[in-house]
Formats: sequence, C-alpha cells, structure tokens
Amino acid sequence: MQRYPLHIDGRTQPSSSGQWFPTDNPYEGKPWAEIARGTEADVDEAVTAAHRAFTKGPWAELTASERGALLRKLGDRLGQEAHRLAETEVRDNGKLFTEMHGQMTYLPQWFYYYGGLADKVEGTVIPLDKKGYFNYTRKEPLGVVAIVTPWNSPLMLLAWKLAPALAAGCTVVIKPSEFTSASTLELAAIIDDVGFPPGVVNVVTGFGNEVGSALVGHRLVSKISFTGSDTTGRRINEQAARDLKHVSLELGGKSPNIVFADADLDAAVNGVVSGIFAATGQTCIAGSRLLVQQNVHDEVVRRVVELAGTAAIGDPMDPGTQVGPITTPPQYAKVLDYIDIAQQEGAQLVLGGAPATGPACGNGWFVQPTIFTGVRNDMRIAQEEVFGPVLAVIPFKDEEEAVAIANDVRFGLGAGVWTSDIGRAFRLADQIQSGTVWVNTYRAVSYLSPFGGVKDSGIGRENGIGAIDEYLQDKSVWINTGAGVGNPFVIR
Ligand code: NAD
Repeated sequence: MQRYPLHIDGRTQPSSSGQWFPTDNPYEGKPWAEIARGTEADVDEAVTAAHRAFTKGPWAELTASERGALLRKLGDRLGQEAHRLAETEVRDNGKLFTEMHGQMTYLPQWFYYYGGLADKVEGTVIPLDKKGYFNYTRKEPLGVVAIVTPWNSPLMLLAWKLAPALAAGCTVVIKPSEFTSASTLELAAIIDDVGFPPGVVNVVTGFGNEVGSALVGHRLVSKISFTGSDTTGRRINEQAARDLKHVSLELGGKSPNIVFADADLDAAVNGVVSGIFAATGQTCIAGSRLLVQQNVHDEVVRRVVELAGTAAIGDPMDPGTQVGPITTPPQYAKVLDYIDIAQQEGAQLVLGGAPATGPACGNGWFVQPTIFTGVRNDMRIAQEEVFGPVLAVIPFKDEEEAVAIANDVRFGLGAGVWTSDIGRAFRLADQIQSGTVWVNTYRAVSYLSPFGGVKDSGIGRENGIGAIDEYLQDKSVWINTGAGVGNPFVIR
C-alpha cells in the first residue's frame, strides 16, 4: 500500500514514532494508503524549521515581488496537476470527481491573485498631530502560521489560507484532516519542486488531539488559521487565548435557503436541491434549512422531493453520479443519528431516511437524500449542523417571519434568498445575520470575494483583498526630525 510520509524542512520523512495510520476510500469502504502518524516531536521539528525559514533563510531575504512570482509559478504548476490532485481527493474524501476537478482547476487563481497582491501591501505615512516627527507604518508578516484543515475540500480550503499567508511573507505548518491528508502532502512536494525554500511550507499529518493541539500550542506559532467544526474551533480559540495568539476560525453553519412565493420557482427548486444535496451535504455552506412561504409550501416541497428523488447515487468518479458517499464512518453514523432524532422530534420524513445500498454504491458509506417537513425551528434538526444530505423544511408567513426564523440559530455562514422583488432582496441582504447572502443563486464563491461567518460560524474573513491582512500586523515607526530632547518624565 502506498505510504505518505511527513513533509518537514523540504524533506519527506517518517514520523518519529515510526507509526502509520490507514486512510480510507469512502466509495470502496476500505483503506487505500497509509499516512505517517506525527507526534509532538515532529511538530516541534516542523515549527522550528518554519521559524528558521521565517527569520534566517532565503525566504526572509526575498522581495515581495519575488515571493509573488513564486506563488504565480505554483499556480501554473497546480493547473497542470489538477487532474491528478482531483483523483487523489476523490479517492480520499469520496466527493464527486466533477466537483473536485472543478475545484482543482480553479485553485491556481488563489495563487495568481495573492501572488499579484504580495507586492501591493503598503504602509502609510501618518499626518501627525506633533511637530518634529515623521511617523510611518509597515505591514509585517505575523511569523509562523499553523494551518489546520477539515476533510471536505482539503486543498481548496487550504489554498484560501496558504496563498495569502505566503504572499504576506509568513511560513506555515499545515495539519490536514486525518481523513484526507494525501493531497496536502502531494501539494507540499509540488511546492518544493517549484522552488520554495525549505521550511517555508511543512506538513505534519496525524490526529487532532496529538498533532493538532501540539501545533496550536507551540510557542513559536504566532497565528492559527483553522477550518472545521465549531467544537474544535472553540477549543483552539481557548488554547490560543491562553497563549495570546492570533486566530482565524471558519466554522460550521445551518444556512437557510429562503423561498418566497414571488420567486422563479424553477430556479429556486434547483438551487434548494443543489444547495443541500450537492457534495452530499458535506459543505459548511449547505442550505440545510429550507424556509418556504406558506402559500407555495406544498408545491415547492413536492417539486424539491421529486427532483431530489431523481439523484443518481453512486461512484464519485463516474461523471453521471450526482450524490456520492459520506466521507467518514463517524460522519455516516452521525447523519443516520440525526435522521432518527428528527423523527423522534416529530418531523415528517418525506424522502429518503435510510442508508443507500445497491450495486452503484460499492461498499461505501451512502445515505439517501433525505427531506423532513413539519420542522419547527427549535428542533435539533433545524438548529444543529448535520453535515450530510438532510434537508429540514420550515414554513413561514411573511418577510418578517422569514428573517426571524433565518436569524434564530447560533450560526451565520451563508443564506439564500429566492425572490423576484428587488426591494425585498436588498432588505433581506441587510437583515440576515450571515457572512454571505446569495440572491437567486446559492453556493457561489470566488477568490475575489470575502468569505467567513458571523456568530458561531467563525472569526475573520478569507478571500478578497482583506484576507492578506489576517497574516500581517502594523508596525508604527517614529523618527525624530528635530523635536529636541524634551522632558524625560512627560510623554508627548
Ligand atoms: P473537525 O473540527 O473535526 O476537524 C478539523 C481539523 O481540526 C482536523 O484536521 C482535525 O484533526 C483538527 N483537530 C481536531 N481536534 C483538534 C485539536 N484539539 N487541536 C487542533 N486541531 C484539532 O472538523 P471536520 O469534521 O474535519 O470538518 C467538518 C467541519 O468543518 C464542519 O463543521 C464544517 O461546517 C466545517 N467547515 C467549515 C468551513 C468554512 O469555511 N466555514 C468549510 C468547510 C468545513
């Protein structure tokens, strides 16, 4: 079986413990490779290498333009490697090849965009209120960044962090999900090959409570950039607070897709189905609550159930497949648990509700697209993130009630609004508490547009010009141009 070692200081190496753990193919339901089980000692070696690269190595000597050129070169290489990287991701996380290939061919844009931004980071000259001084600011990289990522879109979510961190001049140690480490290690090899100096990008694989917490707690790490569940995000935030480290947290969601009676219902039904069932619901922005206006409730539900019922379930490598397996056995168990919970709470099951089996499903962990109606917003199925193909339908009377239900949840990552009333679109865009609002579309993202959450969905923003500031801090420099010595006991 293929083995993937750690990637530290420009070299591949086994873990200091000599241990490996299996990584599964979710469609075949069995391991396809082994990953090095990193230790605290490996983390220390990787962070020390990253710190050396940040303070002393050739990376620290590069101009911002040279860093940008390297990032753009990496973008070119990633474009050439898109097919291979997509295959690795599908083997590891079971998501559709069509989706992962789409992500991989889009990936270079992050490296082109932040590569271009690297030498446009400028300080300012402050028009001071004091005579005899010149005051300017520099934007300086934070230092060593710990990047911790989840399993659902490993390289894409990594690129959102890696490209701006490197453009800013930071160095990084990456801890990918233990379920999907392979593509990150393949990326690290490409990064070396493109000519990034050793130690700039390191990968330590392993488990969250071993490698993850050791990395977050390492004294030479200045910033933690995390994507994953809110439970882990909270723990990381607590640990970072104790050590006074910077954090960015991209966490979960319970996003509403809100359909008004005046919407183009063909488009809305399509958007609702793809919003929850694409990626088998394993996306942080899954439109897992369908809020539908009472007078079109029955029609919309009928059409959503009809369309979702036609989904081709099966091999994620097959271009005809529309819904693939659940990525991990614990996640599979969790999705089935929530289906039970919803029924116990009194929600009505109108589609699916069971594991999907049959020849098209291989030995994988499949769950049928599942829809519940008669959901109240205080039920667990409406409040908690399932991260699977399960839709909760909640009726509403009018605009005011739609906004109230949409906001009555602790998350705030994404929201969809389906309406033909332009005024209503603007009103809802203002009133909905979430990092992104889509009107008459759903789940669109771009390297150009800020992405992140409000409330329990996170802290900080990725993508867009502002994301580079997540890896920089201002320094204020004062030059005495003739203010004299002054009274040593009085601050001016
Ligand atoms: P997770 O929180 O279980 O794990 C994420 C990462 O954190 C993994 O690499 C894991 O090993 C690591 N980890 C676990 N415990 C740790 C600890 N104590 N210290 C440091 N690291 C630790 O999440 P997951 O199950 O891999 O991913 C699914 C979650 O991610 C969902 O909640 C989803 O909504 C969220 N997500 C958010 C976004 C976003 O951009 N907001 C995108 C994708 C996924």
